[in-house]
Amino acid sequence: MNKEEILKSLPTPCYVYDEQALINNLRILQGIEQKTGCHILLAQKAFSAYHLYPLVSEYISGTTASGLYEARLAYEEMPEGEIHCYSPAFKDEDFNELLKMCDHIVFNSFSQWKHFRDKALAANGVEFGLRINPEYSEIETDIYNPCFTNSRLGITLENFLENELHGISGLHFHTMCEQGADTLERTLNAVEEKFGKYLYDMKWLNFGGGHHITRQGYDTELLIRCIDRIQSKYGIQVYLEPGEAVALNAGYLVTSVLDITKNNMDIAIVDTSAACHMPDVLEMPYRPFIIGSEEKNKKPYTYRLGAPTCLAGDVIGDYSFDSPLSPGDRLIFTDMAIYSTVKNNTFNGMPLPDIYLLKADGSTVLLKSFGYEDFKSRL
Ligand SMILES: *Cc1c(COP(=O)(O)O)cnc(C)c1O
Repeated sequence: MNKEEILKSLPTPCYVYDEQALINNLRILQGIEQKTGCHILLAQKAFSAYHLYPLVSEYISGTTASGLYEARLAYEEMPEGEIHCYSPAFKDEDFNELLKMCDHIVFNSFSQWKHFRDKALAANGVEFGLRINPEYSEIETDIYNPCFTNSRLGITLENFLENELHGISGLHFHTMCEQGADTLERTLNAVEEKFGKYLYDMKWLNFGGGHHITRQGYDTELLIRCIDRIQSKYGIQVYLEPGEAVALNAGYLVTSVLDITKNNMDIAIVDTSAACHMPDVLEMPYRPFIIGSEEKNKKPYTYRLGAPTCLAGDVIGDYSFDSPLSPGDRLIFTDMAIYSTVKNNTFNGMPLPDIYLLKADGSTVLLKSFGYEDFKSRL
C-alpha cells in the first residue's frame, strides 16, 4: 500500500502524525543548531504530541511552555531537554512548581518580575528573562499580532525599567507568524534600535517563534547570518522557539463522507468539524489542502464540505475533485499536526479523532483513542 492507501484504511475521523516528515523537519532544525550554536525549543502550544517527544529531543535542545501544564508535560515527557516558560502572568501557586521544572522563566512585565524577584533570586539553576515588545511586526491579522495596538504581550521601551534588571539574564521577543528570515532581519533591526543597549549585559536573547524554517524556499542562510551576527555582536546565546516549523506538513486528518446534499450546489457532510478539529480554519482563517482536490470548479465535481454539527458556519470550504464523492469515501487533509490536536474540543458532542502515528517504515500505531467519556468528563 502507498501512503495514501494506508491513511485511507484507518477508522475515521483520525489524525495521523507522519514520523518521516517530522524527522525531515527536525534534521533541518538540528542543522541550524549545529551551524550556529543556537538552541531550538519546541513551542508546545503548536504541537504537544508527547509520544513523539523522545524523537524530538534527539534533534533539538528542548521545549517551551506557556504555563504550568505545558511545562509539566515537558518535565514529564522530555526531562532531558531544556524547559523554558513564558506566560503573560504567573500565579503564585504555579510559580513554585515552575521553579522546580524550568531552566528559563520569562516575565511579561516589570510588576510580575518585582512580585516574584525574591523567590526567583533564591532559586538555584533557573535563569530569568523579560519579554519585550519591539513594536514592530509584519503580521497582518490582528488576532495573531503581538504588537497590535494596546497589546498585553511584552514590555514596550516606554515601560522598560532599566534600573530593575538585576537578576535578569535575557530578553525575549515573539512578533512573527509563519514568516521568513527577511522578516526576522527587519525585526532584529527594530529590537536592536530600541533594546540593543541592554543586550550587552545579557546572557541570551530568545527570538520567539513564527519562523517558518521548514517551509520550502525558507532562507536558512539568512537565518544563520542573523543568529551569528547577534551572538557575536553582543556575546550572547540565541534561542528560537518555533512551533509550526517543528511539525509543519507532518500530519493528516482523515475523514469519511457521510452524506451528499444539495442547496444550489453540491454539499458533502463529512465526519469531521472545522469548529472542533481544525478551529484555525475558522479563526485564521485558512483553507486546508485535501489530497487530490483543487479550488472550486477547477476539477469537474465541486462540493462544499461541512461538519455534522449544528453550527451553520461549520464549513471547511469548497473543493473540486476528479470524480463525484459518495458516502464512505475518504478525504485526507494535509498539514494537520500543528494547532489541531492541541485545540480540539467536543463542542456539540463531536467525537475527538483518534491519533495514529505513521512510522517511517510504513506501519501505523494507534497512539490515542477517544470516546464518549472524553466528552462527558469535561462537563
Ligand atoms: C505561539 C508562540 C510560539 C510558537 O509560534 P509558531 O508560530 O508556532 O512558531 C513561540 N513563542 C511564543 C511566546 C508563542 O506565543
